[in-house]
Amino acid sequence: MEKELILDVKDLKVSFHTYAGEVKAVRGVSFQLHKGETLALVGESGCGKTVTSKAILRLLKEPPAEIKEESIIDFMGEDVTKMSKERLQEYKGADVAMIFQDPMTSLNPTMTVGNQITESLKIHRKEMDKEARKKEALRLLELVGIPSPESRVDQYPHQLSGGLRQRVMIAIALACDPKILIADEPTTALDVTIQAQILDLLDELKERLNTAIILITHDLGVVANFADEIQVMYAGEVMEKGTVEEIFRKAHHPYSWALLRSVPKISTDGSEHLYSLQGTPPDLIMDIHGCPFADRCDYAMKICKEQSPPRTDFSETHHCFCWLDHPDAPDVERPI
Ligand code: SF4
Repeated sequence: MEKELILDVKDLKVSFHTYAGEVKAVRGVSFQLHKGETLALVGESGCGKTVTSKAILRLLKEPPAEIKEESIIDFMGEDVTKMSKERLQEYKGADVAMIFQDPMTSLNPTMTVGNQITESLKIHRKEMDKEARKKEALRLLELVGIPSPESRVDQYPHQLSGGLRQRVMIAIALACDPKILIADEPTTALDVTIQAQILDLLDELKERLNTAIILITHDLGVVANFADEIQVMYAGEVMEKGTVEEIFRKAHHPYSWALLRSVPKISTDGSEHLYSLQGTPPDLIMDIHGCPFADRCDYAMKICKEQSPPRTDFSETHHCFCWLDHPDAPDVERPI
């Protein structure tokens, strides 16, 4: 059965106009998202994953940010870059919602968690009266696994643990039944056990509500059991995209290899050393000639610095941008 296409991003380019010049933070990113699917955007900080997701939600301050003319962000047949102010207001929250890394800075410390949920319902679910909103707030707290919601609903964020605060953030995001939930490093501020619980919760909600999820993370280890597809990003560009299976078992791009080698593995004798990629990403104020990863790549060839690598497709879901996949390239042994 064909999956329903919800989001179609084509050639997304986002720049920031600064005193030092134009920072080209996202340089022609394209991908699709289907109903009930989880797509992970993975890469080091500054690779453009958060800017991409904020552009989808039109959360960037424009200016200094600029979504370039040729970019298309198609949400169920509507171009988000051309939405009116009123439509955008509705779109943010009702169609696409975002949860952030640190719930403490996103939640309002002076409002009870119940009121924060009902505020969101007031804006997006106008048909609900006060009583219905209160009932819905309790239902949502229960849905996200908050124990005894009747007593929690009147509490303030500081009275909750980090894990519970993140659950409240998810409840607020779900208040309007969004088609897409964007989770930006949702577990980074939490300890390992709670991280797993939050990821399980997101997974369960996805199954139950058929919401699509865009998960932003720097850690490939986080996505192994959670995402359906992985898009590896570097210097504002896509390096490789594939299913979890394809990236973990058959990655083609040297940057994907570096990320995979950085995932901690359990070794019985404790002998495993974590790989750490040397060097820094290119300055995004500069024009990049050839492959953006060339300065840090152990396999770089002369052509890599001269011409952008072409796209090679390995399956319907797996593609990569690297000169090593060219038929004339030398054979190299993969380090993973
Ligand atoms: Fe390395 Fe060249 Fe492939 Fe870029 S195109 S990742 S520099 S081998």
